[in-house]
Amino acid sequence: MVLADIDRYDQSRNAQIDGRAIILGASMAGLAAAKVVSDVFDEVAVIERDPLPDVPATRDGAPQTSHPHVLLEAGRTTLEDFFPGFSEDVIRSGGLMVDAATEMEYYENGGFFADGPNHLPMLCASRALFEHVVRQHVRELPNVELLDNCRFYDYLYTSENGVTGVRYRDGTGNKKTLSAALVVDATGRTSRTPDWLDENGFEAPDVEEVSINVTYSTIRLDRPSDNRTVLFVPPSPPRKRGVAAIPIEDGQWEFILQGIHGDDAPTDCPAFIEFANSIPVDEAGQLPRERDWVSDEIHHYPFPSSIRRRYDELEEFPDGLVVTGDAIASFNPVYGQGMSVGSLDALLLHHLLAETGLDEFALTYFSRTAAVIQQAWQIAVVADFAFPMTTGPKPLGTDLLNWYINRLIRSAHADGELMDAFYRVFRLEKSATSLFRPGVVRRVLQP
Ligand SMILES: Cc1cc2nc3c(=O)[nH]c(=O)nc-3n(C[C@H](O)[C@H](O)[C@H](O)COP(=O)(O)OP(=O)(O)OC[C@H]3O[C@@H](n4cnc5c(N)ncnc54)[C@H](O)[C@@H]3O)c2cc1C
Repeated sequence: MVLADIDRYDQSRNAQIDGRAIILGASMAGLAAAKVVSDVFDEVAVIERDPLPDVPATRDGAPQTSHPHVLLEAGRTTLEDFFPGFSEDVIRSGGLMVDAATEMEYYENGGFFADGPNHLPMLCASRALFEHVVRQHVRELPNVELLDNCRFYDYLYTSENGVTGVRYRDGTGNKKTLSAALVVDATGRTSRTPDWLDENGFEAPDVEEVSINVTYSTIRLDRPSDNRTVLFVPPSPPRKRGVAAIPIEDGQWEFILQGIHGDDAPTDCPAFIEFANSIPVDEAGQLPRERDWVSDEIHHYPFPSSIRRRYDELEEFPDGLVVTGDAIASFNPVYGQGMSVGSLDALLLHHLLAETGLDEFALTYFSRTAAVIQQAWQIAVVADFAFPMTTGPKPLGTDLLNWYINRLIRSAHADGELMDAFYRVFRLEKSATSLFRPGVVRRVLQP
């Protein structure tokens, strides 16, 4: 399930539910969830362990905020629907709306994709700016309170009533409780909910884990104001190295090296340049060699594996609780999917609250989000299994799919229509089945 398969956000659909909702975690998935539950509940409390800045800033609680974040079109459209003016606000703060059809240099399988025939909007900014703009919109919601410097540590739970709130420590370490009709766990990949389920007599979800062992090293480079190029060269077998340059605010590029399966992205300057030079695209070496570095700091991030917690396969789940975003599934970041999947999770939460209220809630929600996660997971995992060192549950048909996609990509070096078809799937805009429509298959398979 992708953007095209889900009804757009419609605030007028919502009925009121008495009481409070609590969101755990004020990162991208938590903020999107805060918006949709604020339409429904009398009040919303968002509990976040970090101090929340009033300016765009990286955060310790989400260390990936120092690295480039591509916002796919499914995520941008959904955030725009939740927070009208979102894209304009990002652009006003220095972000850029580029045309991915013509301004993105995307290299894979030995060549660059041809320019596409249709405009493909792509909003570019730092992750800190995206989050800041969303957070400012949430701050404006009259019934939402952001409780920062507060650390959640347990759910309030009884077997008759399910989850009825949370326990947390405030900034001074005092223990507090807060009741709620619904708690949304958006605490990310290290979510405690699976352990909590286990400790409280529920089955914890099975975990699918695909090990790719990717490392990121990121710097910022000075960017001429008229240069809006996006460079994207993902690792592609047998090359275990990748690079991306994303134009962002303040006349900068975020420039990132990626290495997988033990070919670690370097953390010192000479090794950084050497690694970049080894990538078979001129700009990869040129940019860090020839542009000024904004600082000498190289941010490093190891990401061992994609994980997917199969909440959708559980038969029982406590009332009053759901999970969202990376806390359900966290994907190899090379494909830039996490913020968009978190936004689509929130969109599904919105529709479900409008349809059923809180009746039979969690398991229906998990089965719907599973359909969204499935496509993002397939894209990431199938591509990861193109490397023989990748381990984990391999989806059926992976090798055949990789054969077809590789052929499609090679054809797209000269065929802009195929670039368009491929990239709309990649952006979670269109379903992967659209790549198997006769018109596309004919173009891919022609000699
Ligand atoms: C290196 C890297 C690069 C990435 N690049 C992209 C990209 O290009 N595009 C993209 O869409 N996605 C990308 N992602 C994924 C993206 O960062 C996440 O999907 C996105 O942040 C949504 O995650 P989330 O809100 O579910 O969780 P997180 O961002 O992990 O946030 C969890 C929040 O919960 C808070 N928290 C945790 N525990 C507690 C607690 N006990 N009490 C209170 N608060 C708590 C944390 O402080 C944090 O704010 C990347 C990820 C990584 C690691």
